[in-house]
Amino acid sequence: MNHAPGWVKVERRTRRVYWNEPTMGAWERVYLLEVVRGLAITGGVFLRNMGKWITGRKGAVTAYYPEEIRADYARHNRGKHVLVRREDGSPQCVACNMCATVCPARVIEIEAHHDPADTAHPKSPARFEIDYSRCIFCGLCVEACPEDAIRMAKEVPNLPGPDRHAMWIGKEELLNWQPASDAAKRYPPRPGTTGAPAGEAS
Ligand code: SF4
Ligand code: SF4
Repeated sequence: MNHAPGWVKVERRTRRVYWNEPTMGAWERVYLLEVVRGLAITGGVFLRNMGKWITGRKGAVTAYYPEEIRADYARHNRGKHVLVRREDGSPQCVACNMCATVCPARVIEIEAHHDPADTAHPKSPARFEIDYSRCIFCGLCVEACPEDAIRMAKEVPNLPGPDRHAMWIGKEELLNWQPASDAAKRYPPRPGTTGAPAGEAS
């Protein structure tokens, strides 16, 4: 079809709908009734929780952190990091920086030390620090480590304090603290061995 000069034909398109259109019945259209229903639900939850709290049952209030520490973290909770030691006590970490590279919050800082005399493990971390004020406990550092040198125990770090800088936890603490839960996981057995574990977290 020919159009007059200066005019562009705009074609009507049917847009695909990717969502469910909201539908409201007559009841929802009378908003006041829905408001009353919402208040009834809120009031019911409040009274139920109040009843639990008065009778001392679990589930009514949250823990008064940091005075109270939850005891029911999930078994696989990702809490505080553990730096794994070798059998001779040295860190299993080879300061490859992969954990720091993958960390989405950029909270791991590593300074490598090179010892040419140690032919088996010439690189180790001179400094290894995690800023827990920004860590999001995603566990990607653990996944990325090619040496299984960093793990996360279920205990949460003791974070509260007046100073953000106190939330930086360094190599010595990450190496030396003793998780109550067993953070260690066994290595897959190497071919030709009995599968004895090496490098348990300590
Ligand atoms: S748990 Fe996630 S945010 Fe925390 S140090 Fe590891 S990679 Fe970074
Ligand atoms: S903890 Fe693992 S990934 Fe991070 S620097 Fe050490 S060896 Fe590399």
